[in-house]
Order: sequence, then structure tokens, then C-alpha cells
Amino acid sequence: MSDYFNVADIFGENVFNDAVMQARLPKKVYKKLHEVMEEGKELDLETADVIAHEMKEWAIEKGATHYTHWFQPLTGVTAEKHDSFITAPMSNGKVLMSFSGKELIKGEPDASSFPSGGLRATFEARGYTAWDCTSPAFVRQDAAGATLCIPTAFCSYTGEALDQKTPLLRSMEAINDQALRLLRLFGNTTSKKVTPSVGPEQEYFIVDREKYLQRKDLIFTGRTLFGAMPPKGQEMDDHYFGAIRERIAAYMKDVNKELWKLGVSAKTQHNEVAPAQHELAPIYAECNVAVDNNQLIMETLKKVAGRHGLQCLLHEKPFAGVNGSGKHNNWSITTDDGINLLDPGATPHENVQFLMVLTCILKAIDEHAALLRASAADVGNDHRLGANEAPPAILSVYLGDQLGDVINQLVSTGAATHSLEGEKLETGVKTLPDFMKDATDRNRTSPFAFTGNKFEFRMVGSQDSVAQANIVLNTIVAEAFSDACDILEKAEDFELAVHDLIKTYAKDHQRVVFNGNGYSDEWVAEAEKRGLPNIKSMVDAIPAYIAPESVAAFEKFGVFTKAELTSRVEIEYETYAKTINIEAKTMIDVAGKQIIPAVIRYVTSLGESVNTVKSACASADISVQTGLLTKCSALLAQAQNALTKLEEVTAEGGKMEEGRDQAVYYRDTVKAAMDALRAPVDELEMIVDKDVWPMPSYGDLIFEV
Ligand code: ADP
Ligand code: MG
Repeated sequence: MSDYFNVADIFGENVFNDAVMQARLPKKVYKKLHEVMEEGKELDLETADVIAHEMKEWAIEKGATHYTHWFQPLTGVTAEKHDSFITAPMSNGKVLMSFSGKELIKGEPDASSFPSGGLRATFEARGYTAWDCTSPAFVRQDAAGATLCIPTAFCSYTGEALDQKTPLLRSMEAINDQALRLLRLFGNTTSKKVTPSVGPEQEYFIVDREKYLQRKDLIFTGRTLFGAMPPKGQEMDDHYFGAIRERIAAYMKDVNKELWKLGVSAKTQHNEVAPAQHELAPIYAECNVAVDNNQLIMETLKKVAGRHGLQCLLHEKPFAGVNGSGKHNNWSITTDDGINLLDPGATPHENVQFLMVLTCILKAIDEHAALLRASAADVGNDHRLGANEAPPAILSVYLGDQLGDVINQLVSTGAATHSLEGEKLETGVKTLPDFMKDATDRNRTSPFAFTGNKFEFRMVGSQDSVAQANIVLNTIVAEAFSDACDILEKAEDFELAVHDLIKTYAKDHQRVVFNGNGYSDEWVAEAEKRGLPNIKSMVDAIPAYIAPESVAAFEKFGVFTKAELTSRVEIEYETYAKTINIEAKTMIDVAGKQIIPAVIRYVTSLGESVNTVKSACASADISVQTGLLTKCSALLAQAQNALTKLEEVTAEGGKMEEGRDQAVYYRDTVKAAMDALRAPVDELEMIVDKDVWPMPSYGDLIFEV
């Protein structure tokens, strides 16, 4: 088989997409399904039966033996239970392959085995998965054979959401309703639907699998828990956009091919800031499809790596002291007839509708900064947000020169009369064309940056789902639109009322706009003066989910009930404590069974060397050996003490009741004990003979892929 292929031929070949449905479904059924997808009508069983049959026939042609309801429980990853298509053997001993409408639209996994934060107990375990027909089914081909995957939402028997998908779909409805309300006020009578578009950029690390397998910390926790910095890090800035090495390029080629077959529009790939760090971005898609596709991207990155003898690390901070990984969530709102509500046009000061939308977004971000921060909280992300790394834990909005100036005019004079124009950028090289500079520069330090016709929310962690971030964004912006509509619908003079409202929102919420360097200490001080929250850890971020203003917004649009939010908060605390507990236990294991024994061997050999050299030549200078021996022995004792302490505090944590107190304890006490153990071990790694050290170093891992 040739190694080269035509992308257009393979793109979407494993997706039961619209083209396939149009070709295979009876016209009437195809039309009905579209009514369900577009107008939210109910899907009747008869129609579902026809769709299921065709889907099965198509999947079997692709080699599928099983189907699965593919869903996103609150574990952060996807879940699936496989059923084969076979029916009970007939009298002739043969089987039929069948798949009914009921099996397509509804599944019944045991809800009690997934995190529910107390919503479901084992004795009331019933849970349902329901087909999300707006996200297409696909066939996944891998070592397990081919499987028909049906994207679904996952709910409890009583209808509470137990997954990411259900609230996401609810939030999309909310923003659709409220954005349409606003558009109608501006005289738009033609748009029928408004959808958030999302393009998540995925960062990841690639290391050699053989080396990965020698590091228990990477295997159990996804990040290194020990490791001294190599002589060279990322200081030369030579990796970002650098030429992609052959081995990685071959891997990326395979990843792209797999994704294209699944209809995921993998588009951009490049090396990132840190050595061994890379990025993949698809072309943006409707919010729920983008969320599903991002899960597929993460699964594919991991799966394909194995085939190349590589390991993909999706953790936010696999290596301390080296740039971490995030996921930039590009977000905009578009109508079914192609209007991007975030497109400012050439002269934004004149585009009243755009300014109304923009100031609503400023209001939403300012009023719900803590909630949006919480939406990006995950355990690994604590090493980025609030640590000395991008982006800061303070939510601010970057608008750039042009829009920032428009808002300034509005606030200072009450009217915006002009827009800064893009200037001509002269390259100074004759053979290069001069081109128009964007009116807005890029700012890489802002957590929420306007980038021309979309916002880029940069706080999300690399291994986290982007669902939560988009649920929150959609809901808080829907609320701001709704508040604006409440005022504007009552206004006698619409023009006047709009201008007043834009001014008021700009003035009231300008404090959240910040165009400077988000990494600087000055900004931290300035943000505090402005009263903006600076929430440094996941544990402190979690309560925002059940703050009164959050509950009010979620309940108003039916995105979450108070009970669902409370359950999610419980799950987050549990997840935090459990994750740190695993990290602590892994450190105990690695230090106790690998590192301390290795250092003892090394110290012993030093002692033997001292004796041997001394007896061979009484006048020999043995200061190097004794110096090392003294230093290593002291660090060894320090490490052993720290290990004992870590064992004690971790055991204590395990006895605590699950909940906020336990999470706080793990953050403040267990993590501190982990740091105290790591320090002497990393120092030892710098002086102990490399041959003795029981695992590959940072240098081995990130420079030798
Ligand atoms: P960057 O220069 O920020 O790294 P990339 O090309 O890596 O840009 O990623 C930008 C992402 O934003 C892509 O996924 C792209 O499809 C997406 N995007 C572009 N326009 C929009 C839009 N209007 N709404 C949402 N996402 C968008
Ligand atoms: Mg990018």
C-alpha cells in the first residue's frame, strides 16, 4: 500500500455524516432526522429503526463488529461499553447482525460506577445514554477491530446530567435563544439559529516509549515527580516552530490520517515552546462537535504514539521548570446564515450591534470571572494557572489597540467617533510585499484575548475536556444577552437605549480589560486594585460553581440545577484529593524502592573507593570521594526523613472524609511534603553517577526523541 494518499478521498470516510445519510436514508427519514437536528423535534421509534438499520449496514461495510454509546462522564475522559451486532443463533446455527432504533437512541450503562457526586447511589444505579444526533456517529478502526461509536449524552434515571454533553447542549440552546432575541431587536428577521463555534488548539509532549516505561511517575500520574533540569532547557527559543524531526513528522502524518478518516479537520501542527512539545489545531466546528472532536484528537494522539514507539503526554505539566501544555479555546458565535457576531467590521465604532455584543461579553466575564476561572480548573492545571506560567489566574480581557481605543472613547466621551486603522507594515525587503498590519497585535499573555473575530480562552488545561469552559462561556454570555434584551425590549427609543446601554456596560466593566503583560507582577498588583479575583488553586476555584450568581445563571437557562452543581463540586474535590494521593503514593514508591536504594549503592561504592585507594596509597588525595560521600550521605538522610514524613501525612489524608477539607489538606500538607522530598532527590540526581540513577533524566526524555 502506498504511503501517500489523497486527503479529499479519505476525509470523513469513517463518519456517518450528512452525505452518507442523504445517500442511504429514504428521503422521508432523512428529512425527519433534519427536523430533529435543527428544530429539536422528537425522534420517533419508527424513524430511529430505519436510521439504525442503515447505520449498521454502513458500519458493517467498514468492518464493524460492535457498536458503542460513546459518552463523556465526569471522569474527564470518554467511556464506552461495547455490544456486538450479533443476535441469538438461529436454528441453523448462524447469527444475524441487528441494531434497532431503540438501541441507537437509548443505552443503559450502570450509572453508579461513574462519578455522580452523590446524585446516584448504587441501589438506584439506573442511568441512560441518549443519542446526540447533532454529532455524527463514526466507525473507529484499531487493534480491537472496528466499532461503531454513537455520541451520546449521559443522564440519571431522574434526568440529572451525569456527563459533560448534556449541560453543553443545554448551554448551546440558551445562547441560541438569547442571541436570536438580541438579533431580532437589531432588525434581523432571517437568521434561524445561532451556534457557538469552537476551535481548540491542543498542546502535547512526545517522549520515547522505552524511556517512558522506565518512569513509574509518568506511568501512574502522567507527569514526572522527580527530575533535575538538564543543562539545556527552552532558553534558546529554538524549538518553537522549529523544523519537525522525522520521527515526529511520521507520527503526525499518521495522526492526521486517522483524524481525517474520522472527519476531524486536523489543520495546523507545529513544535511548541518546550523541547518535545507540539501542537495540533483543527478547523473550528460547532461547539458540541468541537468538544467531541477534541476528545477524539486526544485519544488518537495517544493511540498512534504507541505504534511509533512513542508516548504522548497530555498532562499540563509533565516536566517541572519546562513550559506546560494548555488548550486554547477559540470561541465565536455565528448564525446559520453565516454572520459572525464577533466580527467588528472595518469600523467597529459604527457597528452598533457588534459593540452591544462585545460589551455584553465584557459584562459576562467581569461578573463571572471566578466561574470562568473554575471552568478551567483541573489538578494538573494548578501548575500553570497561578504558578509562574502562562496564563495568569486572573481573568482579564485583551481587546487590542483598536477595540481598546473604542471602549476608551465610549467611557471617556460617551461616544466612539473613530476607529484606529491598520497601518501598512513595511518589510524592508524588496522581494517581500508590504502588507496591511492587523489593527490589533497579538498578546500571548492574556487569558481571554480578542483575536480579530473570536475570543481565545487560554486557561483550559491540555488534558481537560473543553466542555466545561464552553458550558460556562455560553451560559454567562446568554445571561448578559438576556439582561440586555430585557432593557432594550422595553425601550421607547431603541437607538438611544442601545447607545446608553453600550456606554453603561463599557463603563461598568472596563476594569476587566487589560492589554498589557499578564505575566508581570505589576499586573497582579493592579488587578487587585481593580478588585479582580486572583484564584491560584483548583481547590479555591471550585466554590465558584455554587456561588449564588452562578446558580442563578445556570438555573435561569436550565443548564444546571443546584443539585447538579453541588454534585459536580463534590466530584471536583474528590478528584483533587485522589489525584494528589496517587502522586504522593507514587513518590513514596519510587523514592523508597528505586532512588534511595540506588543512592545507598552509590554511597557504598564511594566508601569502598575511599578504603581501597587509602590502602593502596596512604598519601593519595581522596578529598573528591570523601566530599561526595559527605554530601550524598547528608542528602540521603534528608530524603529519607522527607519520605517518612510524606508517608505519615499521606496516610492521614487517606483517613479523612471526602470533601473540601480533605482537598485543602492534600493541597497544603501533602503537596508540601512532596516538595520537601523532591528537593534533596533532585539535588542527588545532579551528583550521583548517571549509570546508577534508576531512571532516564529530563535531558534523556525531552532531547532524545
Ligand atoms: P494561533 O495562531 O492562535 O495558534 P491556530 O491556527 O493554531 O492559531 O488556531 C486557531 C484556532 O481558532 C483554529 O482551531 C481555528 O479554526 C480557530 N478559529 C478560527 N476562526 C474561528 C472562529 N471564528 N471561531 C472559533 N474558532 C475559530
Ligand atoms: Mg496555535
